[in-house]
Amino acid sequence: MTGRSSGSDWPRIFERFVMSFQTLGLSDALVRAVAEQGYTKPTPIQQQAIPAVLTGGDLLAGAQTGTGKTAGFVLPMLERLSAAPAAKTARGGRAPVRALIVAPTRELAAQVEASIRAYGRHLRFRSMTLFGGVGFGPQAAQLKRGVDIVVATPGRLLDHAGERNLDLSAVEILVLDEADRMLDMGFLPDIRRILALLPAKRQNLLFSATFPDEIRALAGRLLDRPRTIEVTPPNSTVDVIRQRVLDVGRDRKRELLSWMIGRHRWEQVLVFTRTKHGADKLAQALSRDGIRAHAIHGNKSQGARTRALAEFKDGGVTVLVATDIAARGIDIAELPRVVNYDLPNVPEDYVHRIGRTGRAGADGEAISLVCVDEHGFLRDIERLIRRTIPRETVAGFEPDPGERAQPVFKQPRGRGHGGHAAHAHARGKTSPRGNGRPVAHARTPGQREERSGSHARVQHSGRGASGGQGRAAPRGGNPARRPRSPR
Ligand code: AMP
Repeated sequence: MTGRSSGSDWPRIFERFVMSFQTLGLSDALVRAVAEQGYTKPTPIQQQAIPAVLTGGDLLAGAQTGTGKTAGFVLPMLERLSAAPAAKTARGGRAPVRALIVAPTRELAAQVEASIRAYGRHLRFRSMTLFGGVGFGPQAAQLKRGVDIVVATPGRLLDHAGERNLDLSAVEILVLDEADRMLDMGFLPDIRRILALLPAKRQNLLFSATFPDEIRALAGRLLDRPRTIEVTPPNSTVDVIRQRVLDVGRDRKRELLSWMIGRHRWEQVLVFTRTKHGADKLAQALSRDGIRAHAIHGNKSQGARTRALAEFKDGGVTVLVATDIAARGIDIAELPRVVNYDLPNVPEDYVHRIGRTGRAGADGEAISLVCVDEHGFLRDIERLIRRTIPRETVAGFEPDPGERAQPVFKQPRGRGHGGHAAHAHARGKTSPRGNGRPVAHARTPGQREERSGSHARVQHSGRGASGGQGRAAPRGGNPARRPRSPR
């Protein structure tokens, strides 16, 4: 089209001008890469976060699930790194790591690193993931060759740091993705050890869709005069996700789920359970009903986890039954539906779980199967998201009016020892402050874990809670004789 634009074109032209990636301060290599991803304009979180990160200051950013947070930190991070050359002198002859991104799950770390590769395809940065469940040696070898950007889960990162496989003393930018999870009590000891390995002068970026108040306060103390960006009310769910609760008898959930999948011909549904055992049992039961289903949780090998997620993304299986390991960050293009087979006992997990659908502007549906035992969890969730979720029943699956609530968590067997029941119990308890909030983020210091969202496998670190000040020591003695923890 040539010639002058008519007056009615101006809002469109103005929008294009104001809201392009270029006008946010990104250089051609990045603008080209995002165009190749099919992005036409920055999302609201990107519009605010990109210029804020480019200033070099600390940032606490909250935006709803699926709204483009990853590009919100990756793009300006790549811009800043490419604008300033890396330090020439390197300890031990190896180039130091320039940016570190820490994420709670291996799947999310892999996804973020894939985004770095996609957005940085016209730049020359070397990035890699560090997480457990896969070979330690190949990671060490790759680190030796030099890496600019590391995306890691905390445990394996500390293992490599303990082996002196990587130098974090020149990190310019630290990102905590799913920051509220990274700063909860389960991860905090490891995060403190990581922070001790970083230079004092660095840029800190904290991103999440949920920020409980206590975590926000802690984050504030870690950051230096941070800017806070909140593009939507904190802890809110996106409007495009149609949410509903189906009240159902405690023992009828499996039948109802199978019936709904068959009746509505659902082709792709992500189903969340509270426990790993529950996920396995449900996947097996669905398979017996003739529905193709895989389970994904922290006790599966990394190979099985990766395959299950890939097959589900490709449409090879209808149902992926997951613990909260898959609740955060995982991006499944146009996933139509999430089912909470069990309601999470940590209300923030609900926001993350249902945020796997309704991403990047697509619509989605979130259905929660709720029995009488879970009414308290439902109240907590509705209070957090500040909305009442419509409730329905399905004829033939209504709860028995005589059904009485039973405790969801078993009593722990002994004091102070993780064990699944003990841990789950801890998360289910309400705060001693009497504010009705679960003590969701309370775990015993010294316990380390492989996080699968809220149902982590609790392990004892073999080190005191005070360990990890200063440089991380090799964990548990000679690493050659020490089994690698499956993170
Ligand atoms: P995220 O919240 O970072 O996981 O991103 C959610 C989804 O939005 C991903 O599939 C991204 O590829 C996509 N996305 C991110 N930024 C944009 C954008 N500016 N335009 C369109 N899609 C985007």
